[in-house]
Amino acid sequence: MLTAALGQTESDAHRLQLLARFGPPKDPASAARMLDALVQASLDDLAQPASGGTLQRWRTLSEVASFDLSVAKLFESHTDALAILKDLGDCVGFPRGSTCGVWAAEVPDARVIVSRGNGPHVTLTGRKAWCSGAAHLSHALMTVWCADGTGPFLAKVHLQQEGVRVSREGWNAVGMAATASVDVYFAQAAGTVVGDAEDYLRRPGFWHGGAGIAACWYGGSLRLAQSLRDVARLPAGGGSKDFRHAALGKVDLALTHAAALLRSAAAWIDAYPRADASALTIRVRMSAEDCATQVLQQTARALGAAPFCKDEGFARMAADLPVFIRQSGGERDACAVGESVATGDNRCWEL
Ligand SMILES: Cc1cc2nc3c(=O)[nH]c(=O)nc-3n(C[C@H](O)[C@H](O)[C@H](O)COP(=O)(O)OP(=O)(O)OC[C@H]3O[C@@H](n4cnc5c(N)ncnc54)[C@H](O)[C@@H]3O)c2cc1C
Repeated sequence: MLTAALGQTESDAHRLQLLARFGPPKDPASAARMLDALVQASLDDLAQPASGGTLQRWRTLSEVASFDLSVAKLFESHTDALAILKDLGDCVGFPRGSTCGVWAAEVPDARVIVSRGNGPHVTLTGRKAWCSGAAHLSHALMTVWCADGTGPFLAKVHLQQEGVRVSREGWNAVGMAATASVDVYFAQAAGTVVGDAEDYLRRPGFWHGGAGIAACWYGGSLRLAQSLRDVARLPAGGGSKDFRHAALGKVDLALTHAAALLRSAAAWIDAYPRADASALTIRVRMSAEDCATQVLQQTARALGAAPFCKDEGFARMAADLPVFIRQSGGERDACAVGESVATGDNRCWEL
């Protein structure tokens, strides 16, 4: 469902038209082709977070997410990689037309170790977990470590080289299947380190990027909510439809809350680009996760089985969204915000 939204730019409209021409991705290769098409058409050039256009950036992510969450996952990661490199003052970037992913998951038994060579040039060895789009992207920006435990560093890696092997095993996802977020093995692969140890995590932009994911969850929720709204608009056909209006009321509240927090967070980030946005971002993510949970529950209860079985777009979104929101930090995030409030940061409770 591609409706022109308030505040939509010409690029947004062009992006949605291009995606609509492809239709929903059937597999990881087609999701990657859609990212590639967006890149080739220069539709990946979003406002840098915290530069005055944060809300516009999030609107774009949300709109792509309303179309399809796997494509949004690849698009968000690619545009995040470009923003990170700008943030770190990397003047080289990726070659024109590259498609890249940010692979920063740190799983205890999957760590990539670098041996330093000349200047920023390194070789990478080890396994990286959760590498969305690995089989089809041209480049990755990924966290790596020195053998002595120093890190994480960020490394740019060209994926079409001998020392890189993308696993074909272990990915049995149904929701978010088209991201194919598999393990990647590195054996003396060449890479280039950007910045110093922990630069990636210490940037204020780390948190700005994290809030962009919440905008994707919001876009997915919006897609499901639109289905409920469409049905609630239809004549009742003899029966009561009060229960659908009640569900829509609850969905409206969830979306209104999440949207308000996203809007105010974007304004705050633009006003204080260098400030610590960690607690704010976690709030935004928790709120978007709660919103998605509520929308999933209310739309399912109000609409019954029909859209899950007859509306392909709804069914895919309802399968993808619960998986994508599992990228939330869950209780760990709640704990971090609770801790910051306990130690005095409760200014945002004030009216
Ligand atoms: C579809 C998909 C695509 C992805 N693509 C990428 C990608 O391209 N790049 C990338 O870097 N990462 C990616 N990830 C990985 C993701 O960001 C996480 O790193 C990954 O899901 C593992 O983190 P986790 O918190 O789920 O795991 P775990 O740390 O195993 O946690 C599992 C659950 O336990 C909870 N938990 C853990 N510790 C505590 C605690 N102390 N107290 C309370 N609760 C706790 C967590 O909140 C979580 O809900 C992807 C994930 C998904 C689902």
